Amino acid sequence: MADEMKLRAARMLHLRQSGLAKGDPVSLSLAMTSVYHLPGEPAGHRQYGRFDNPTWEATEDLLGHLEDARCIAFPSGMAAITASLLAFLKAGDRVLLPSDGYYTPRVLADRFLSGLGIAFDTRPTASFLDGGFDDYRIVFAETPSNPGLDIVDLAAVSKQAKAAGAIMVADNTTMTPFGQRPLDLGADLVVAADTKAANGHSDVLFGHVTTRDEAMHGAIADWRKLSGAIPGPFEAWQVHRGIETLELRFSRMCDNAEMLAPRLREHKAVSALRYPGLPDDPAHNLARMQMDRFGFLIGLTLKDAAKAEAFIDGCEMIQPATSFGGLHTSAERRARWGDEVAPGFVRLSVGCEPPEPLWQAIGDALDAAV
Ligand SMILES: *Cc1c(COP(=O)(O)O)cnc(C)c1O
Repeated sequence: MADEMKLRAARMLHLRQSGLAKGDPVSLSLAMTSVYHLPGEPAGHRQYGRFDNPTWEATEDLLGHLEDARCIAFPSGMAAITASLLAFLKAGDRVLLPSDGYYTPRVLADRFLSGLGIAFDTRPTASFLDGGFDDYRIVFAETPSNPGLDIVDLAAVSKQAKAAGAIMVADNTTMTPFGQRPLDLGADLVVAADTKAANGHSDVLFGHVTTRDEAMHGAIADWRKLSGAIPGPFEAWQVHRGIETLELRFSRMCDNAEMLAPRLREHKAVSALRYPGLPDDPAHNLARMQMDRFGFLIGLTLKDAAKAEAFIDGCEMIQPATSFGGLHTSAERRARWGDEVAPGFVRLSVGCEPPEPLWQAIGDALDAAV
């Protein structure tokens, strides 16, 4: 981790301290309220639960601190993504989405944006720069792509998209601010599903948008207030607690993935493997350039769907589940959702288990899946 990020991680754990009065609780209070004590002139005060909430604000403070930006929290990753699109798009605009990224934004564009007169195109992450960005109002990138783990040069996309007059949005869910900071590379907006590693305990859905542009921050804040896509205070409280240990968890998860990837690739049950941390992975050079760590996701291909399911279900240290980024290692066969991957392709989300027992369990399950 870069020195600047280490300092941010350390300061994050003391962020609330400066705002405390003598006798205040040190841990974050949960403000469950829809209304505020509000006699007389309302300006300059908290007014209503859809407008603001001190527990959301504390969570936004942590996320904003990590990304050196303003943050707006949302009740899910998709609510954050929807805000990043609908706060800026109007009829006649075009959006560019990754063809191989998280699939829901494409379904959203197809089912709802096109009906509003907003067109969209898709491009593979590995060749995202080909064709330029003229005519786009929003260029939306996801890197590493989920589940294929291809990488696009965020600085190049940001530069070219902005030169073409587009807003550049980066989905940073798979890396978190400890792995990659797209705003530093020129993105206008970062969106993320804190449902995944940021919360890390698989018990809440949450999302956020960050930006360093005041006008864009204002537009996203207005979108949340007017659309009503607000997070619950309790969920914000849970995510606040999760983020306090994110640096520790992310570091263990990436260490574990770096340990597992070469061993898995050597295994005879595995026909192909993608991990940006492997020196001969097609995404390795870009990963070294723009990421602090190589992440905790590994894509491995087994012989067929049956072998892949047997591996996932037969391993005592793999939780079969969709989603990723939890404390516990989990996996799923992505073809079951229609992703364009081989039937035996498994997305492995490496967790925080101690490394050797984890490898033992995974190696044993692979031996049985040859
Ligand atoms: C899960 C995910 C989302 C959506 O998050 P939800 O909290 O499920 O709405 C968006 N982008 C990526 C990359 C994801 O993995």
